[in-house]
Amino acid sequence: MSKKSRGGWLNHIVDFIGEYTGTNPVYSPLDLTGVLQAKFFIGPEDAGKLVNIVEKELAKRKLGLAAIELNLTFNCNLTCAYCFIHEKDPLERMTLTTAKNAIDLLLERAAFPAVNITLIGGEPLLEFDLIKQIVPYAQAAAGKRSLTVTWSVTTNGTLINEEILKYFAINKINMLLSMDGGEKTHDRYRRTKSGKGTWHKIAEMIPLIKMYQPWLGVRMTVSTEAISDMRDDFKQLVGLGVNQFIIAPAQGAMCWSKEQIRQYGLNLVDILRDYHELKHRGIPIFIEEFEKDENEYTGWGCRAGSTSLAVAPNGDVSPCSKLLGLTSAEGKYIAGNVNTGVDVNMLEPFRNPITRQPRHCKQCTRKCSGGCYAVNFEQTGDHFTASEENCLFWVVCQETKRLSKMIRMGAQSYLSGGKF
Ligand code: SF4
Ligand code: SF4
Repeated sequence: MSKKSRGGWLNHIVDFIGEYTGTNPVYSPLDLTGVLQAKFFIGPEDAGKLVNIVEKELAKRKLGLAAIELNLTFNCNLTCAYCFIHEKDPLERMTLTTAKNAIDLLLERAAFPAVNITLIGGEPLLEFDLIKQIVPYAQAAAGKRSLTVTWSVTTNGTLINEEILKYFAINKINMLLSMDGGEKTHDRYRRTKSGKGTWHKIAEMIPLIKMYQPWLGVRMTVSTEAISDMRDDFKQLVGLGVNQFIIAPAQGAMCWSKEQIRQYGLNLVDILRDYHELKHRGIPIFIEEFEKDENEYTGWGCRAGSTSLAVAPNGDVSPCSKLLGLTSAEGKYIAGNVNTGVDVNMLEPFRNPITRQPRHCKQCTRKCSGGCYAVNFEQTGDHFTASEENCLFWVVCQETKRLSKMIRMGAQSYLSGGKF
């Protein structure tokens, strides 16, 4: 066969494969191998190689989702001083049609048998009526595809009532409260529109919440003003009955000095010691970061835009809700709208973040995922370029995990010795 006719023959095969995979979206690679052998008289080995190449190419183009964040509204009943929602239109609310289209996107692109929907805002409980329509729709649509939906809701906790708690318990919707610590720390920023603190209102509800959700999680955001109170804030929340924690610094525009990060690290170690002390005494408590192995590494880049997407109230799609909170269009990275179509190709850098890894991360020997895309953008103007602040927080986090592992392995001398 001449070079020219061989080229034409290969083009013919490529065209055929394109048409075959396009018209059979759930094709079997084995079937395609057999078809190629029969139609083009090629051996099983060559047919297998061709199918492998096709599979790799298609995998790059696929968007395989595990989770979606639905920003039900940009409205909120509070005016927390550090919240990005102040710059948004509080009248923006998600319609049921938009929510359904977002759920359909998740289910159509689901790459796992169980997918997660997080209800977020603004304050998502302002849209409880919408939630009651979204949940049955998603359950039924997932059931038809033999998929399971798990649910989370991130709330400021001030609108919770028993009707909501019952509904969440029945539908297995897991609540995560935003609570920064004790009254002094929490009320520094988390206030009502009239400037009143909200700590008491939430704290009073916790016994009732725990009747419906015994494992109660809190996102404890540590601002630079609260560094020295971190341990006390943790203790106060444990005293209220909180038993799951996500503890993280409030990062945005670069604001932490090296000394502040060092102090944060020292206080985090104190919390770690208290945590193990509580566990030692048989008190149920769980902090995922303290249970992870320091060597566990899932690769460079976070899941945003790869297996997880965020949807704004108007249906705009971004890799993550935190990115939606940024002011610049470049930062938000809108890759389409669930009502009109998502440009999967636009998400390519987030699905293969390693291709955007900056030189300082390439040369770095730490097994780090490269920072939060939203914080990176705020601090360096690029989603994939982390600042020095991020690297230092990573070291703190890694050292804490290392110490935690030592305690888990029996280094009891690191416990806080009943001082909790
Ligand atoms: S520690 Fe810093 S330099 Fe190293 S990979 Fe992480 S972000 Fe990149
Ligand atoms: S690390 Fe940042 S970008 Fe990634 S999911 Fe978390 S908030 Fe979003």
